[in-house]
Amino acid sequence: MSTAALIVAAGRGSRLQASAPKQYLALSGRPILSHTISAFAAIPEIAAVQVVIHPDDADLYASCVRGFGNKLLPPVHGGATRQLSVRLGLEALKAANPDRVLIHDAARPFVPSETIRRVIGALDRAVGAIAALPLVDTLKLATPNGTIAGTAPREHVWRAQTPQGFRYAAILSAHDRAHKAQRSDFTDDAQVAEWAGLDVALVQGSEENFKVTTAEDLVRAEAVVASRIGDVRTGTGFDVHRFREGDHVWLCGVRIAHDRALEGHSDADVGLHALTDAVLGALGDGDIGQHFPPSDPRWKGAPSKLFLEDAARRVAERGGVIANVDVTLLCEAPRIGPHRQAMSQVIAEILKIDPGRVGVKATTTEGLGFTGRREGIAAMAQATVRLP
Ligand code: MG
Repeated sequence: MSTAALIVAAGRGSRLQASAPKQYLALSGRPILSHTISAFAAIPEIAAVQVVIHPDDADLYASCVRGFGNKLLPPVHGGATRQLSVRLGLEALKAANPDRVLIHDAARPFVPSETIRRVIGALDRAVGAIAALPLVDTLKLATPNGTIAGTAPREHVWRAQTPQGFRYAAILSAHDRAHKAQRSDFTDDAQVAEWAGLDVALVQGSEENFKVTTAEDLVRAEAVVASRIGDVRTGTGFDVHRFREGDHVWLCGVRIAHDRALEGHSDADVGLHALTDAVLGALGDGDIGQHFPPSDPRWKGAPSKLFLEDAARRVAERGGVIANVDVTLLCEAPRIGPHRQAMSQVIAEILKIDPGRVGVKATTTEGLGFTGRREGIAAMAQATVRLP
C-alpha cells in the first residue's frame, strides 16, 4: 500500500498581516512550510509529498524547499478556494497513483509522527480517517449581541485537525462529484467525504499539531522550534589569501576597489571562505577544500557565495538553523568600515538569516606580521548552528 502526502499551501494567510503568506514565515530562520514538509518526508511509509502552492509564491517556494530529495514532487498551482486547491493536488497525484493520501495544512508544522502513523494505520480499516481532538472546554451558544443563549452538549464533539487521510480513489472521486455538483463551500476534506457518503474515522490528534493562524500562534511556534533544536554547535574558520597585481578585492561578498587583488582559485573572498569553514565545522562536515577542491576547474573564478550557500544548505538538510555568524578581517587596507553594513547584508541574504545575526568586524595588526606588511589578508570566522 503506497501513501502520498498532499500539503495545501496555496492560502494567503490574511489574518497575520505579514510580509509573506504565513506558510513562508520563518521559525528560527526556516519557513513554516519547510518544517511541515519535513514532518511528512521523514516518514518512511510516505512515498511522495505533493505541495499545492499559489502561483505568486513560486520563488518563495523554491527557496524554502532546498535540500529535500526526490520524494518531494514538483509543486502544483492551487485554485481560488482550499477545496479547489486540494482537488488540483489530487489530480496531480494521478501519475503517482497512491493507494492512500494524507491531506494536510501547510500551517500545521508540528504534526507528530505518531499522529501521521495513526491516520495511516486507521486507513487499513476505514475509507477515511482524520486527526482530531475531543473537546474539553464547555461549549456555549451565543446570541448576536454576545450573551449566552445556551450550553451545547460537548460529548461527541471533536475538533478536526489534519492530516485527513483517505483511500486515494475514493477522495478523488468525492472531490470530482462535489465539483460537478458545484459545491465549493466545504472547509475540510472530511466534509467532502461526509457529503459523498464515505465513512470517516476519528483518530487521536495532538495539541502540538496546532495551526499557526495568529501572531500569538507564531510566538508559540517559535518556542516549540527553540525547544526542538537544542543541539547547539559552534565552528570556527580561518583563511589567508596573498595579494597580487589587480584593482579590486572581494571581501564578504562585496567588491571593493583596491590597488591590489587577492590571489586564489575562486574569487579569493577570504572572508566568505573562513565563514564557510566555520559553518562546516559546526556541522562536523569537512571543510571548503574537501567539498570544493581547488584542483576542480569548475570553481575557477567562482563567486565564493556558492560555497557558503552550500554550507547553509547542509544545515537546512539536517533540519537545523544558523543562530549567528561572526567574521573578523585582518588587514591594513582596504578600509572595511564603509563596507561593513553591505557585507552583513550580503551574508544574511546568502544564509537566509536576519542581518542582526551577522557580525562583520575588521582590525589591523599594527603593522606586524604578513598582514602588517600588506602581503595579504587573513580572516577568522565563527558560526553557531542549532540542530534537532
Ligand atoms: Mg581561501
